[in-house]
Amino acid sequence: MTTPFDDDKLHEECGVFGIYGDDDAAARAALGLHALQHRGQEAAGLVSFDGEQFHAHRDQGLVGDIFSSEEVIGRLPGHAAIGHVRYSTTGDTIMRNVQPLFAELNFGGFALAHNGNLTNARGLRRELVQRGSLFQSTTDTEVIIHLMATSDAGGLLDRMVAALLRTEGAYSLVALTDSCVIGVRDPLGVRPLVLGRLGGSHIVTSESCALDIIGADFVRDVEAGEMVVLDASGVHSLRPFPSVQRRFCIFEYIYFARPDSLVEGESVYKARKRIGAELSRESHVDADVVIPVPDSGVPAAIGYSEQSGIPFEVGIVRNHYVGRTFIEPAQQIRHLGVKLKHNANRSMIEGKRVVLVDDSIVRGTTSTKIVEMVRAAGATEVHMRIAAPPTAHSCFYGIDTPQREELLASALDVDGMARHIDVDSLAFISLDGLYRAMGEDGRNAELPQYCDACFTGEYPIRLSDFEDSDAPAQLSLLAELA
Ligand code: AMP
Repeated sequence: MTTPFDDDKLHEECGVFGIYGDDDAAARAALGLHALQHRGQEAAGLVSFDGEQFHAHRDQGLVGDIFSSEEVIGRLPGHAAIGHVRYSTTGDTIMRNVQPLFAELNFGGFALAHNGNLTNARGLRRELVQRGSLFQSTTDTEVIIHLMATSDAGGLLDRMVAALLRTEGAYSLVALTDSCVIGVRDPLGVRPLVLGRLGGSHIVTSESCALDIIGADFVRDVEAGEMVVLDASGVHSLRPFPSVQRRFCIFEYIYFARPDSLVEGESVYKARKRIGAELSRESHVDADVVIPVPDSGVPAAIGYSEQSGIPFEVGIVRNHYVGRTFIEPAQQIRHLGVKLKHNANRSMIEGKRVVLVDDSIVRGTTSTKIVEMVRAAGATEVHMRIAAPPTAHSCFYGIDTPQREELLASALDVDGMARHIDVDSLAFISLDGLYRAMGEDGRNAELPQYCDACFTGEYPIRLSDFEDSDAPAQLSLLAELA
């Protein structure tokens, strides 16, 4: 039977932006979303409030296409706005899933945008539908709105907290009401959220690069478990959740966040360079040239080259007019996508022993094609170095990773992967090496400092929706980890 809540494809990658106290709120939010485009390329939306009314515009496609015209921005007046960029895995993005979601609740209008993924949304949804809630979308995010609508708590903020206390999973949320913009991070702070300021206006957004684009100053990270309220009197901080050890997603540093962003007080670019340097210390190989897989492998390759003394060269050129490989839905097209996207720079490769550096291997499609291309361009040896440990487990907290079976590292060990992608040698940074690069002594086995579930399978937040019999095998272990 197919029902809306059989939708188990709730994994989304997203970016959020909220601004309060700016006469051009929607225009600034559109720019902010443009800077966050790497976090989601499938759809985008904005909701603004002008003191009397809410206004919304959402569409599928890129921010630049959706919000480029003055006419569209002109239809979003007001001093406050929130926005969202979305990337969902399934390909069947339907307009009603495009965020921000909006509802008229009994205390007024309420718009909500979410980066992350709730891991008990299906269960909650079933319960809410049985009690009479009428869902408009298939997103996990809508559960929060229904929990708020049916809550006994007094004010809006109390209702929001009460709703969030019932959820499990990862969330960085921005919300818009008729009096404020709200930003909230889940108690573990899995996804990023930062505060900024531009003159008298305040901003809450996924990454600092969205502040830079509008000339706003970075103020600080919203802390794990913190709720911030941006209103006419400034920024107010609330601590509604019990305090727990933060577990920021380490993969944001490896791949997902933009290198020019500061997240959790750390430059993503510098972190990537240190990861590359550590990778070189751990798995040096004699070679003539270090070549990044562009763009995401570049900072790690620079770190690798500096540490090893092997010269860095741009040996692969990326065509920037093709989207990320993952956007294309079918496997055959994904293969084609990689060819469309990269070309070998033969003059830097021919006759050389090459170290290729990439941030991660997911399905192995990119690496296989790139290695073939580099060999065809005349490399005498190809050594692959990966700035992440093997990605052997799916993410359930908001990074779009394929099913576990499709992850190359879930099926093959490092030697097997090396044969599969046809390299002379393959090495991944170790988990402890990754933590060292992040400034730790190593990974604290008792209570890891980051969420690293995609490498370890240790999921720090319960995965209630996936504990049923139809769930992937690895998930049966999870109850005890919650
Ligand atoms: P694959 O070809 O499936 O092995 O994908 C690996 C490449 O995809 C890496 O070079 C990364 O730059 C990129 N990548 C890693 N994780 C993701 C993700 N969650 N979404 C989109 N691209 C990703």
